[in-house]
Amino acid sequence: MIQTPKGTYDVLPADAARREVVEAHARKVLGAAGYERIETPAFEVTDLFLRGVGEATDIVQKEMYTFDDGAGRSLTLRPEGTAPVCRAYIQHGMHKRPQPVKLWYLGSFFRAEAPQRGRYRQFSQVGAEVVGSSAPATDAELIVLLGQLLDVLGARETRLALSSLGTPETRAEYRDELAAYLHVHADRLSPEVRSRIDLNPLRAFDATDPGTRETMRDAPKLLERLAAEDAEHFAEVRALLDDAGVRYHLDPTLVRGLDYYTRTVFEFSSAALGAQSGVGGGGRYDRLIEQLDGPATPACGWAAGVERILLSAAELPVAPRLVDLFVALAKPAGVRTAFALTGQARRAGLQAQLELAGRSLRGQLKHADRIGARYVAIVADGSVAPVSLKDMESGEQRETDAENVIPTILRASRLA
Ligand code: ATP
Ligand code: MG
Repeated sequence: MIQTPKGTYDVLPADAARREVVEAHARKVLGAAGYERIETPAFEVTDLFLRGVGEATDIVQKEMYTFDDGAGRSLTLRPEGTAPVCRAYIQHGMHKRPQPVKLWYLGSFFRAEAPQRGRYRQFSQVGAEVVGSSAPATDAELIVLLGQLLDVLGARETRLALSSLGTPETRAEYRDELAAYLHVHADRLSPEVRSRIDLNPLRAFDATDPGTRETMRDAPKLLERLAAEDAEHFAEVRALLDDAGVRYHLDPTLVRGLDYYTRTVFEFSSAALGAQSGVGGGGRYDRLIEQLDGPATPACGWAAGVERILLSAAELPVAPRLVDLFVALAKPAGVRTAFALTGQARRAGLQAQLELAGRSLRGQLKHADRIGARYVAIVADGSVAPVSLKDMESGEQRETDAENVIPTILRASRLA
């Protein structure tokens, strides 16, 4: 039996309904803030991600699905959405539009990772990007909107971690300073941290052994090394979040996966998720558009995993499917009248279904009851014979002309 490939899944109708709720709320929350939907291809020229995500990142090093297009070009299934949105911004000259350009997207992304709960090889992200603004209010707005989206979707036990990375130059200097500090205190570090001081000194902040943890308490922090304008920008973002009543904790170890982040970085996690606790995050990427040969343009954005939102939100209020009318056939010969009546009902805005399974009349009524049909129209033989309209709530059934069926249901639903 052929099954879904490892790390992928089918979205069955019950799940599809929950995913539609996510999409509807994203459209509402982001639309109300003036964000417009954008869609980019599922695959891009590989170079976009090499340059736009960064060669040193986990994504580029180990997680990309890259293939030859058969004509010698290297393509890659998109692992993330920011670089493609920036490519589109540049390609379509969006810097000539009123700035900033505020965009949102929802779609499938692909990463070759070890599958587990909340981690798949094809997954969905909803994302928002604001291109063309360096205002701290942009960073704050994006954070507020993601928080709002998670709230309306009922994501549980969420926490917001916030930090600022300054510029890549500040980061490089800081890295050296931290490595030097770790070398001085090497005897108090765990062997593992000690062996990686020059490779990745920041990892020392994640260590759990008491010696390293104690050492890290007094280690220099990047937040204390920010250049004056970067520190000012961050203070303003924090003040806006404080005013908006958004709760966050400062996490000086928040690094985030992409090389191009500058200044603000943030991540929402959910304690309800277990090991893969990241629900969504993002930050400012003022250097990326330039990195992709566009005009120097500041930008900020986030992406959130739809599957993890759904895992974190225990109950999503999914509206029950309403069937206004089921058109049953007393005899097969009534099919032309029934087919026409069903079509008219749909054009009138009713949710209408036609018997398609050749059931007995009894079987059809049972089926109509099971799918929650409000009314059943039983079409008798021939095209002119009257129709029996059964109200499934009261059980009342009466004969009427076929053309009366739809007005009757519409009238009743207006009264209800
Ligand atoms: P993680 O730390 O879980 O690997 P990440 O830092 O790689 O996350 P981002 O690149 O920031 O994640 O992507 C944003 C969001 O997309 C994540 O917070 C998560 O909700 C979701 N996500 C990322 N990778 C996957 C995946 N393989 N399967 C499902 N969701 C994912
Ligand atoms: Mg990852």
